[in-house]
Amino acid sequence: MKRILVTGGAGFIGSQLCDRLIKEGNDVVCLDNFFTGSKENVIHLIGNPHFELVRHDVTQPYYAEVDQIYNLACPASPIHYQYNPIKTVKTSVMGAINMLGLAKRINAKILQASTSEIYGDPAIHPQPESYWGNVNTIGFRSCYDEGKRCAETLFMDYHRQNNVKIKIIRIFNTYGPKMHPHDGRVVSNFIVQSLKGDDITLYGGGQQTRSFQYIDDLLEAMIRVMNNTDDTFIGPVNLGNPNEFTIKELADKIIALTGTKSKIVYKDLPSDDPKQRQPDITLAKNIINWEPKVQLEDGLVKTIEYFRNVLI
Ligand code: NAD
Ligand code: UDP
Repeated sequence: MKRILVTGGAGFIGSQLCDRLIKEGNDVVCLDNFFTGSKENVIHLIGNPHFELVRHDVTQPYYAEVDQIYNLACPASPIHYQYNPIKTVKTSVMGAINMLGLAKRINAKILQASTSEIYGDPAIHPQPESYWGNVNTIGFRSCYDEGKRCAETLFMDYHRQNNVKIKIIRIFNTYGPKMHPHDGRVVSNFIVQSLKGDDITLYGGGQQTRSFQYIDDLLEAMIRVMNNTDDTFIGPVNLGNPNEFTIKELADKIIALTGTKSKIVYKDLPSDDPKQRQPDITLAKNIINWEPKVQLEDGLVKTIEYFRNVLI
């Protein structure tokens, strides 16, 4: 049994991670400020003697004795991370400093949830970890992209300077149950709009691409990375599903699977919206012997089922 701290533990990925870690027999401290996460996501764990829920903001120091830290605290949807962009930078940067300081003091291993956004609007396709990216430093997405890039820098420097045991994962677009109905990202938006019979909001011409990973595949990979005992393997490592779709194809699939009568309406493309995104997962295949198993349609069916129950 390990003692594990999950920051951002009440969010979409964090709450599912808490579930898995508890099922695997660990003690979990879930830390969250409930900005985009919700107590509802972990309410079934409250009362479990192996689970603690802490209201805390990672921009402030925190102390607990744990063996591992998963650092997930940060709004991830463009509408939420752009709502208070200064706070988003503080969360990524000061959150990383506070959690790395904690890991250093208590000698814990710490994993950073980085993102494919650090590649910006990529000029290399698909994106390997060796690609340095194409990021606007002063745009509306920069608070998230640059915050996450600086967090990676801090992780590497704490590792080189203080021997902190780190792992960095770069997560590509992940979806599934426990996404908030108002999360604002594309999969949940299209499903919720379809189930409610509302217009489906397609930004731009819908020819931009993303590669969608189902949550179960990500959880398996992130736990394998954390528990990888080769301390020379620290990442960054891409975790995503390499199957690439245009956003129009995604809309058509969701329309077909829900049987909705909703119509597609075209809206302006937000600034700096990446034109293409697809992970090169060779490194993850080689190091943790992993590749995603869940195909887009199967994952969408499960996610649609989840939202049908939530929206009742
Ligand atoms: P989410 O918004 O559901 O979860 C983020 C959680 O962090 C929420 O519970 C939120 O309340 C909490 N949080 C935000 N600011 C905080 C702060 N200052 N202090 C404490 N808690 C705070 O998003 P998610 O999809 O679950 O993302 C989790 C992590 O994974 C994020 O770091 C995100 O950048 C990263 N990530 C996610 C994806 C994806 O496709 N889902 C892709 C790349 C990276
Ligand atoms: N998108 C869209 N309609 C929506 C939400 C998003 O067409 O209601 C598009 C968005 O412009 C982007 C893609 O879908 O091209 C993925 O957007 P999301 O916010 O999910 O993630 P990210 O852009 O961070 O990959």
